[in-house]
Amino acid sequence: MHHATPPADALMWITDRPDVRFVRGDGSWLYDHTGRQYLDLVQGWAVNTLGHSPEEIRQALNEQSSRLINCSPAFHNECAIELARMLVQTSAFDRVFFANTGAEANEGAVKLARKWGARHRQGAYEVITFRNGFHGRSLAMMAASGKPQWEQLFEPKVPGFPKAQLGDIGSVERLIGASTVAVMLEPIQGESGVIEAGDDFLRALRRLTHERGLLLIVDEVQTGVARTGRLYGYEHAGIEPDIMTLAKGLGGGVPLAALLAREHCCVFEAGDQGGTFNGNALMTAVGAAVLRRASDPAFLAGVRARGEQFAAGLRAISQRQALGEVRGRGLLLALDLGCDRAAEVVEVAREQGLLINAPRPGVLRFMPALNIRADEVDLGLQRLESALRQVMSRAMLVV
Ligand SMILES: *Cc1c(COP(=O)(O)O)cnc(C)c1O
Repeated sequence: MHHATPPADALMWITDRPDVRFVRGDGSWLYDHTGRQYLDLVQGWAVNTLGHSPEEIRQALNEQSSRLINCSPAFHNECAIELARMLVQTSAFDRVFFANTGAEANEGAVKLARKWGARHRQGAYEVITFRNGFHGRSLAMMAASGKPQWEQLFEPKVPGFPKAQLGDIGSVERLIGASTVAVMLEPIQGESGVIEAGDDFLRALRRLTHERGLLLIVDEVQTGVARTGRLYGYEHAGIEPDIMTLAKGLGGGVPLAALLAREHCCVFEAGDQGGTFNGNALMTAVGAAVLRRASDPAFLAGVRARGEQFAAGLRAISQRQALGEVRGRGLLLALDLGCDRAAEVVEVAREQGLLINAPRPGVLRFMPALNIRADEVDLGLQRLESALRQVMSRAMLVV
């Protein structure tokens, strides 16, 4: 136990956290209050696109903070205008609304769809979402999410989010009725253990929503901004959704989110949507710095190369240690252990200087900085294998 810093008991308890306080980050590395060094493959939960404290973000923060931080959402600022233009130019969408979190951007997407339904679909308001999906922690987004543990939580639920089965187009068709206005999904379900919707399924959904006159909303809070090796995850399927949300990777570590929509669904009227901090100059200046780097074709090629290296290493480990499937795309990867020991592996790995995440009891998830170096990927794989060996041999002893 460390007593060099005061206890954290003034923080509201929401979950158990390890007795480690991080004081400094640099690229793929984090340093705790005792000076210990960790290779970080969590990166703020797929947030730190360019790693910890990258030059691009420090420079954007320094320059913009001495110029203009926030001029209120009632006025335009140049940073928000510029970032919106960059997002529009690099995507299938025409307009952008900035927000601060993924949940807030998704709320905006659902509000936009409901408004569009009120105007064009006789008041249709239901948004079909998917079992095991994750869209955030506001009351409406908890209802939109398909997390089994949330089914009985914070009742009553916000209505209007019937659940289909990912990969099963028939399950979507069966839910479509007069009240349906949109279908919303993650191209890869991140929190539920890196489960891909699949390109064929995304194309089938696009076809179905076109035929039925519904909107297709992609929640790219986790998959967007180069995470999968393309700037946006929907690109792999060659489709053009109607609405997209971004958050996590867009700010590269600062709170920044975006709701993007094609022209035909931009139906907000004055007073429908807003937010105090939305599109402030400081955060959007950072977003522009991150997107400038992440949209560079050489950067994207690097993400794909590191992703292939990482996935190949995971498959080799899985084979050597008789574990399960390796899933994901680019640098959003998961290793299925085939047994519920992921939390133990996370703990042992941390003791060995490696930070990883277990989104489910039997699944490890990896979401490193997108500019992680090849030698850092190799080191991560080495430390992972050693942690897995230790936990799995412990498991044998218990048997
Ligand atoms: C993290 C996440 C969210 C919620 O984002 P917050 O910024 O935590 O509100 C929504 N959707 C997906 C796919 C996510 O991964």
